[in-house]
Amino acid sequence: MPFQTIFSQYITTTCWAAILLFFSSTALYPQQNEVCFTFDDFPYVQIDRYPTKAIHAKLTGFISTLKKYDIKPAAFINEVKLFRNGRIADPKRVELVKLWVDAGFDLGNHGYKHVDLSSHTVEEFKADVLQGEKIFLPMIKGKQKYFRLPELEVGNTPEIKSEVEKFLAENDYIIAPVSMSAVEFLFAFAYSKAYYAKNEKFKKKISEDYITYLAEFLSIIDEQTQLLFKRNIKHIMLFHMNELNIDTIEELISFFKGKNYKFISLDEALTDSVYSLPNTFAGKAGLGILSQIAVLKKVGGKPAFNFDRIKIPEYIIELASSDSYDFPYKND
Ligand SMILES: [Zn+2]
Repeated sequence: MPFQTIFSQYITTTCWAAILLFFSSTALYPQQNEVCFTFDDFPYVQIDRYPTKAIHAKLTGFISTLKKYDIKPAAFINEVKLFRNGRIADPKRVELVKLWVDAGFDLGNHGYKHVDLSSHTVEEFKADVLQGEKIFLPMIKGKQKYFRLPELEVGNTPEIKSEVEKFLAENDYIIAPVSMSAVEFLFAFAYSKAYYAKNEKFKKKISEDYITYLAEFLSIIDEQTQLLFKRNIKHIMLFHMNELNIDTIEELISFFKGKNYKFISLDEALTDSVYSLPNTFAGKAGLGILSQIAVLKKVGGKPAFNFDRIKIPEYIIELASSDSYDFPYKND
């Protein structure tokens, strides 16, 4: 057989093998996504609204679900929430911290009373960081110290940003950034009212609409990630310690699993180079890292960054924007 024929047969066979491998691998092994679940405003956003005993029971169930699915979450505490009044921390609330730490989960600082950088001085911010580690720090026993910036605000100017970063580094903190920051708080606020009113019908409706919203949110995040990095990244998702996420954790986990997400820890997520890119973003807006990089690369105006594409149900916006806890909808 002439060399050319053998060669072309070899190429053809190799090509077919490659094509078959490609199709079988994409069919059998769809893109593997990775996410670290993080929960801010620990132990509980509405800690004064419910007896600590009730929150203890909810947190216990939440932790056992997270463990059951091997989620490796991180939470960020506002220690002010441990003080009912006066200067002594409520031991029953400190017990909530112990539950989390004893589960082996990461716990970081989120400022004693959530002092953000757009409406406070750097000195106030620094004092809040140091005051916010008095109780949890001895409890995490030498584990990595993480700090989650309140409102995700990095500082209004590059000078403030670098002073804050230097201060946190000197105090052995690693900043825990966020790549997925949804308007979960709108759904959560609406849900907390249905929860308080014991309105099962609306609790169910809000949870379902929340998952529908998250599906659209994740597809935008996917577009942004591909546009900015042309690859998949290790994501860090921002949630809050509220009734909504605690009650829907099983659904949230199965939803992310359905999108082929694997659950990773914060330190695993931070091995992704996107979190160590030179990032000079400063400003009042508390943005996730994708939006910060989009601003720096001047691609922020692209449709991929337009979250208004997602329609938030009108009743969610109405419930979230009213201060009243008198629930306006019937339970039938
Ligand atoms: Zn917060």
